[in-house]
Amino acid sequence: MNNCKICNSELTKTEQIFRARMKSVDGNPVADRVKYKAWCAHCHIYLGKTIQGREESEWETSHVQHNELIHELSANELIELQLEIEQAAKQDDIFDTEERWNEFISMKKETDKLYSYIQGDSSSQIKGYVIKRDAFLISFFVHEIEDNVA
Ligand SMILES: [Zn+2]
Repeated sequence: MNNCKICNSELTKTEQIFRARMKSVDGNPVADRVKYKAWCAHCHIYLGKTIQGREESEWETSHVQHNELIHELSANELIELQLEIEQAAKQDDIFDTEERWNEFISMKKETDKLYSYIQGDSSSQIKGYVIKRDAFLISFFVHEIEDNVA
């Protein structure tokens, strides 16, 4: 079923965005992990799913969880962040920061909120932003990845 989790509309424009070669702990190859995104024309958002072998996730509005949220950005913080991203885009930007940001922020409606989030484990920490619409977290924008190597 390719339906939106928020409004139940049928999703369109499904595309593969990422494929990762995976290995098990003992080094044997296992099924590739493939990520997809698809568009909800009613909500004007992208949803994502992951398929690995026979395991398939639901279409999620975001892979960020509520307990990973840090704080809601004020209007001023958003302006500062936009400037920072414009600056980054002027430099040699191998991460397509501006393109990713524009796609991300174009999904935000006037009434949506913007939150920072942190995801991490012992080896690295991801800092980014996510849109909050009512009870739903939407999309995500990875801003920084820090290695926790001492
Ligand atoms: Zn929808």
